[in-house]
Amino acid sequence: MSDYDVIVVGGGALGLASAYNCAKQGKSVLVLERFNYFNQSGSSNDLVRMFRTMYTEDYMANLAFDSIGIWKELERDAGEALIWMSGLLNFGDPNYQSGPEGTLMGPIKNMERLGLQYETLNANQIMERYQFKNLPNNFQGLFAPDNGCINVPLLLRTLYRLAQSYGAKLMSHCKVMDMKVEESGVIIDFDNGESFSVSADKCIVTCGAYTNDVVNKVNVNLDLKIWEMVYEYYATDPGPNGTLFQSMWFQFLDSTDKNPALSNLFYGFPTVPWGPPNLTRIAVDNAVNIISNPAERKITPSANDLRITADFVDKHCIGVDSRPNYCGTCLQTNVEDNMYVLDFLPPSVGAGYKNVAVFTAGWGMKLTPLIGKILSQLVLDGSTPYDISHFKITRPGVLTEGE
Ligand SMILES: Cc1cc2nc3c(=O)[nH]c(=O)nc-3n(C[C@H](O)[C@H](O)[C@H](O)COP(=O)(O)OP(=O)(O)OC[C@H]3O[C@@H](n4cnc5c(N)ncnc54)[C@H](O)[C@@H]3O)c2cc1C
Repeated sequence: MSDYDVIVVGGGALGLASAYNCAKQGKSVLVLERFNYFNQSGSSNDLVRMFRTMYTEDYMANLAFDSIGIWKELERDAGEALIWMSGLLNFGDPNYQSGPEGTLMGPIKNMERLGLQYETLNANQIMERYQFKNLPNNFQGLFAPDNGCINVPLLLRTLYRLAQSYGAKLMSHCKVMDMKVEESGVIIDFDNGESFSVSADKCIVTCGAYTNDVVNKVNVNLDLKIWEMVYEYYATDPGPNGTLFQSMWFQFLDSTDKNPALSNLFYGFPTVPWGPPNLTRIAVDNAVNIISNPAERKITPSANDLRITADFVDKHCIGVDSRPNYCGTCLQTNVEDNMYVLDFLPPSVGAGYKNVAVFTAGWGMKLTPLIGKILSQLVLDGSTPYDISHFKITRPGVLTEGE
């Protein structure tokens, strides 16, 4: 007889969403988080993340579309609005070749198919509506209203509160040190100043960039490329005629001179009501510091990423200071195809490999309630009705050689 029905390792957005979903079904749940909850050491940090439905890939468009109802269910359960649906303007070179966020015009076919609203704009219309200047004449824009800013601090605290109120036990400063997977369940050793051992029928591992620390214990190793991404907050002109980006925006343009360090994928948010007044988050969707283990983190924001973003702001934004007020870094975990890993452990683990479900990599915040639901379905039902066939742990490029 196990101590718990489910142990969740990692208390970021996806761990909390998994715990909430399992506890809501009456399961006994323990969440083990190595730092404090709501920490800045993983990926679920900062004030905002994008929720978007504009996807080039059909399967991502479908999941994002399906997640809208699941976000609403969570908001109803919480009694709180968690996304500010201010829309998203994608703009740039219509001939941009696909990158980590797909293509500029590729999502139209999916938006038509799913009945989602959108509007196309030319360069002049973009500059009339938004505080941008000097955009090339060939630029085009695609605006969609069903996209918005996720209130990250509120989302995390809401999931924590709901998981706890459905009976989950959430422990901080508990670093998982070892994991044994057996046919009958999982045994987890953790350290919080003293060493403890607990057992569960099932386990969900949501350790983000730190996933290998845990899955290495059962001889699994993922080929993770961890981007040490820089985020920046810029001051905007206040007042009635001041600068207010009314929606999120994202520029699609190939890098200058085909040099990845000179990326032109810039994105920004409106000033959000839960953040500092008149500060807008603008950043580059790239990182020159790419590591394979969070222990190698440089912590200091990359000078290249700061400079190219500040130069973009200087050249193209009206009423925005050209140097950021503050900045920091955040770990974005990737595998080769920039997509999720959302699956059981690989069969190489032996009998019981389906007792453990894993999520890491990709841009996961937008699907937080849906991925939490899928992870709970994997461990409690053994499968999910959602199409996660593109996120297999055994697809090429995810496991390191020999797995
Ligand atoms: C700059 C940036 C911008 C992004 N923008 C977007 C966006 O606009 N939209 C979007 O959808 N996504 C975005 N993402 C991605 C999104 O933030 C992540 O997908 C999401 O936060 C992942 O959450 P997680 O819970 O899986 O991982 P994390 O938040 O990293 O949580 C993992 C947790 O596991 C804990 N842990 C690790 N090891 C152990 C251990 N041994 N024992 C116990 N606990 C452990 C860690 O302390 C951590 O709290 C962005 C990411 C970055 C960095």
